[in-house]
Amino acid sequence: MSRTTIDFGIDLGTTNSAIAVLNGVNAEIIKNNDQHDITPSAVSIDKKGTLRVGQRAKNLISDSARSDAYVEFKRQMGSNHEYKFESSGLARKPEELSAEVLKSLRADVQQRTEEVVEAAVITVPAAFELHQCDATRKAAQLAGFRDSPLLQEPVAAALAYGFQADEEKAYWLVYDFGGGTFDAAIIKAEEGTIHVVNHGGDNFLGGSDIDWALVEDLIVPRLLGEFKLEGFRRGNPLWRQAFAKLKRAAEVAKIELSRNERATLESCKFTDGRGEEIEFECELTRAELLRVAEPIIVRSAKICQRVLEEKNLGRDAVKKVILVGGPTLAPYFRELLGRSLGIPLDHSVDPLTVVARGAAVFAGTQRFNGRAAAPVPAGEYSVDLRHKPVGMDSAPMVGGKISGASTEDFTGFTLELVNTKTQWRSGRIPLRADGVFIATLHAERGDRNQFAIEFLDPSGRQQKTTPDTLTYTIGAVVEEQPLIHTMGVSLANNEYDKLFEKGRGLPLKERRDYRTTHPIRQGQRTDVFRIPVVEGEADCADRNRLVGYLEITGEQIRRDLPANSEVEVTLKIDESRIVTVTAYVPLLDEEFAVKLDMQKNDPKPEDLQADFNTEMRRFHEVRVKAEEARDEGGLEMIREVEASLLLREVREGVAAAKGDPGAAAKCQQRLLQLKLKLDEVADVLEWPAQVVEARKLLGELNAVVKQSGSPAQRDEAALLVEETEGIIAGKRQMDRLRKKVERVRQLHWAIVSAQPAFWIHQFHWIEMQRARATDQARATRLLEQGRDCIAKNNTAGLKNVVWQFWDLLPREVVAAAQRGYQSGLVR
Ligand code: ADP
Ligand code: MG
Repeated sequence: MSRTTIDFGIDLGTTNSAIAVLNGVNAEIIKNNDQHDITPSAVSIDKKGTLRVGQRAKNLISDSARSDAYVEFKRQMGSNHEYKFESSGLARKPEELSAEVLKSLRADVQQRTEEVVEAAVITVPAAFELHQCDATRKAAQLAGFRDSPLLQEPVAAALAYGFQADEEKAYWLVYDFGGGTFDAAIIKAEEGTIHVVNHGGDNFLGGSDIDWALVEDLIVPRLLGEFKLEGFRRGNPLWRQAFAKLKRAAEVAKIELSRNERATLESCKFTDGRGEEIEFECELTRAELLRVAEPIIVRSAKICQRVLEEKNLGRDAVKKVILVGGPTLAPYFRELLGRSLGIPLDHSVDPLTVVARGAAVFAGTQRFNGRAAAPVPAGEYSVDLRHKPVGMDSAPMVGGKISGASTEDFTGFTLELVNTKTQWRSGRIPLRADGVFIATLHAERGDRNQFAIEFLDPSGRQQKTTPDTLTYTIGAVVEEQPLIHTMGVSLANNEYDKLFEKGRGLPLKERRDYRTTHPIRQGQRTDVFRIPVVEGEADCADRNRLVGYLEITGEQIRRDLPANSEVEVTLKIDESRIVTVTAYVPLLDEEFAVKLDMQKNDPKPEDLQADFNTEMRRFHEVRVKAEEARDEGGLEMIREVEASLLLREVREGVAAAKGDPGAAAKCQQRLLQLKLKLDEVADVLEWPAQVVEARKLLGELNAVVKQSGSPAQRDEAALLVEETEGIIAGKRQMDRLRKKVERVRQLHWAIVSAQPAFWIHQFHWIEMQRARATDQARATRLLEQGRDCIAKNNTAGLKNVVWQFWDLLPREVVAAAQRGYQSGLVR
């Protein structure tokens, strides 16, 4: 059978994967060789180099003392991590392991239906970042798929629930709590297009966190009460297998507790440091499980609330919550979630396979053009279809071009499209001489319409075409996956210039003008000028994820580039999410460009430790400050952080990171969240000082505006005073206050820097600093030039001298402001 639509959908999950195919209007799951709907996303390689995928591979993790099997590699997608298979000495990247899972699913289809799957829709979490989508695409290529459109998991789930364009104005919330990632997405259909209105998620929240909480909070304390085990920690390589066994036993018990009130932890046997065998058993109750799982479930509910609030949606606006992911099979889980959310839940489609089913539904709307490379045999014809297999139109147009090995002129050939079910016929359509045709179809609602292509030669004999059918469904189109995170450029003062807001459709392109902060000497390799690109929602640049840099060194330029030179930066993302940064420097008339490598580096455990220590020191300082100031608001926030799951996760994560890259990646992400939280606390404490500072600057602004401001500047200053006072009187909104203060500074600067007197004043200050200049000969020359400019009333020249002199002064003056991933840009 030759397909005209992709029809196959794959849920490439962190824990489990599944494949479904669309037959008519039904999405059907294709079982694996073990007769299961889902296949664990686990890969093992034994000492002979034999590779296995699925349950047997997963079992090996706890059954073998060696590291020969891995799961959860989806968490590392897009990173440069390598999984080492100990017995064979082989190493594999995350995308290579994912490719093996894909191959295995493909083999299951071939075994059952003899069809070789050439293309499939593959789902990714809505929270997947660029490099992760990239890696997924790479995995599909490695697995031999010729085409693999990506689809967001929540959209897939909604499609499986029959979410259609007729659901006009209804919002759905897709709640997907998987083994390792959590996604909450609001879905809406508008003018025939389904799209994700907003989403939030956590790449490090899932069922496996419940397993680990069981292990660390309940099981390990009991175990240590019975046995004396040295260094018994999750990150300790000595105890790797013991922890793997405990985790697996915990998962089994957890699943049992979805049905029963109590479960016995299946016996875990392992040897202690001295080679003595330890056998451990214990009983767990649902109440105990609920106690450790509750904070995790509540955290997911909070993310849902935030996602709704961000769009100003109340609970009533959401028609229903659809449940996705294995843990939602547990009634206690649903009950707690339902209570926290207060929106009706729907779990009528199996939460473990709903995503694969929806992917297949979507695949049925994705055109597949067959094997383009294969030549058409003599006497046969191929059809290159140009049509949208899905749309709101009940009478869509279909175009195409017929070609054949031995026919060049198609005059006299005709084509007719016949609905295979209703027998509706399009009527004979004559082909153009070059083989092109256009037809209008008639489609039935609520069905996938299949049309046979009847192709007749001039003598009226029917000829075979490939493909010989085409399909069309009346339904909503899924919007191109939009930008997942806001993206922009980090500036030298750690300001984040957001160029693309999250949620915008691709492709995107934006240009901004900046200036350089420091000079670059021609030929100097160590003179570097960087343009950091970051993605994320936080206001301070370094609280977001670094995507990559465009770097320009002295070796790349033809002549010296002074500080304060203009740079035009263009950021571009194309449909396949490839990010390019271009910098045009007018002074050099040269353009520099880089395609950002979306790969992420593995966080190093020692860096995480150091980073964590720094944050804890900061936390301590903040607390001392709050205690001294007796700031009740601040102290309350500090207590909250102290008791938070977040702090605990970071602390445990730093320990666990040592032997486990998955834990390291999670720890890095949580650490970023902790920093943001501490920023918030610090902001609250700094508020009084900031208010004083703001008023002082306003006073200075008033003084200069009175003396030398234009009428427009006077108006603006008056407005700024009013607005700033308004913010001060309100809640402590540090960001808003900072932004206003920044604006006050800018206006102040605009007024004073327009005054020749200002530059003269600066020049005198510089004269006093001359001893500190790095290049004394140049300093002398500049000072001479400066005096000359003053004598000639040449303000522009003087300005230039001052700028150049600033470059000669020690960097530490600048360094204090040099956060923001060491950006070389200012506005
Ligand atoms: P992913 O999308 O990450 O591949 P899944 O949706 O397949 O994840 O969910 C896997 C998770 O579901 C695992 O943590 C597993 O322990 C959990 N799980 C599966 N069945 C049940 C059940 N009946 N009760 C509770 N948890 C379950
Ligand atoms: Mg999933």
